[in-house]
Amino acid sequence: MSVSSEFKPYIYVLLGSLGSGKGTFAEAIKSKGGEYVELHSGMHIHDAAEGIQDIVLQRLEKAASEGKGVILKGYPETIKDCLAFEDCIKKNAWNDRVFVILIRVKPEFALERIFYRQTCESCHKIYNLKFSPSKMGDKCATCSGTLGERITSIDEAAKNRIDAFDTKIQAVVDRYKPVNSLYELEGNFDIDTCKLGYATFLNALHKKPPIRPFQP
Ligand SMILES: [Zn+2]
Repeated sequence: MSVSSEFKPYIYVLLGSLGSGKGTFAEAIKSKGGEYVELHSGMHIHDAAEGIQDIVLQRLEKAASEGKGVILKGYPETIKDCLAFEDCIKKNAWNDRVFVILIRVKPEFALERIFYRQTCESCHKIYNLKFSPSKMGDKCATCSGTLGERITSIDEAAKNRIDAFDTKIQAVVDRYKPVNSLYELEGNFDIDTCKLGYATFLNALHKKPPIRPFQP
């Protein structure tokens, strides 16, 4: 898709547990055109010299200064993260560019999403053997690439992270929801329904931006 002249380098913050569909939402954003940098909280976790917070904020500033949109997945998730993030937004006067979106899914649904997920090794398109299988069996319906191996079990740590997510994110919800700076979406649907819902949501969001400037 060509870059629309109307492209605005927005900063989308996508929050949701493992298996909530943040990747599907990111695809919906990118399908509208424009250049995006995707950042996630698990980046460069091995680089102990710098905290993840510093790395995320540096990349955020770099992308934004280059006129690129940013899709930030899984950050900020704590009040400490929020404070650093808000400083960065304030310093750069980006309040009318930020959308914080929380995707809510039931833990059992998230687990099934992960367990049946298949990713194309070539184009990285995501399928789900149970909810949205490839029409070409074990090949990607878009590029005929090979679909990667499904995981055969879900470890306890992943299960615990999913179960604990709602409790963990509550502080962020309590901070942003009362001031109308958080959008909550339900993600307990098959991938096609989610895609449609996300596209509709994004269209409404951008009809008259900024509808709700980010104001923590
Ligand atoms: Zn593919």
